[in-house]
Amino acid sequence: MKNCIFCKIVAGEIPSVKIYEDELVLAFLDIAPINYGHILVIPKEHHTSSATIPENISGRMMTIGARLGVAAKRSLDLEGFNLHLADGACAGQVVPHAHLHVIPRGVEDGFHWGWRQKKYENDAQRDGIAEKIKAKFKLAPTE
Ligand code: AMP
Ligand code: ZN
Repeated sequence: MKNCIFCKIVAGEIPSVKIYEDELVLAFLDIAPINYGHILVIPKEHHTSSATIPENISGRMMTIGARLGVAAKRSLDLEGFNLHLADGACAGQVVPHAHLHVIPRGVEDGFHWGWRQKKYENDAQRDGIAEKIKAKFKLAPTE
């Protein structure tokens, strides 16, 4: 897609430090890492949302992300990794070409996600939310 920074990286019009590439996905170093070795895995074809990516490609993103997480952890002498994907600006998505973050993590890296954890008001409210989500669920690529 024109004017998409990650499509330009795929096309080689913008430089990147490539870590892995195949016919479906590209993985390269994030320019502003949470920890050193922070990688982005992207579909080569343009998708703004993770939900429109065909299953073979999103499956490959997940597989490569996890394998790269292990490679980063082992090579950088760390203990774990996070896989993170932001879908939508309100969720923190800045670049509108879907991407999976692979973030190497160490016991003492000083980074915290800052989860906020709510409680459901009651069982009926909880179950109503579950039913609403199930009613809208589609297995096919969807917006
Ligand atoms: P998100 O907030 O999930 O959309 O993440 C976008 C990520 O893309 C950020 O972590 C940026 O540091 C990263 N990023 C933006 N431009 C580039 C670039 N040219 N090369 C590598 N990473 C980039
Ligand atoms: Zn794109």
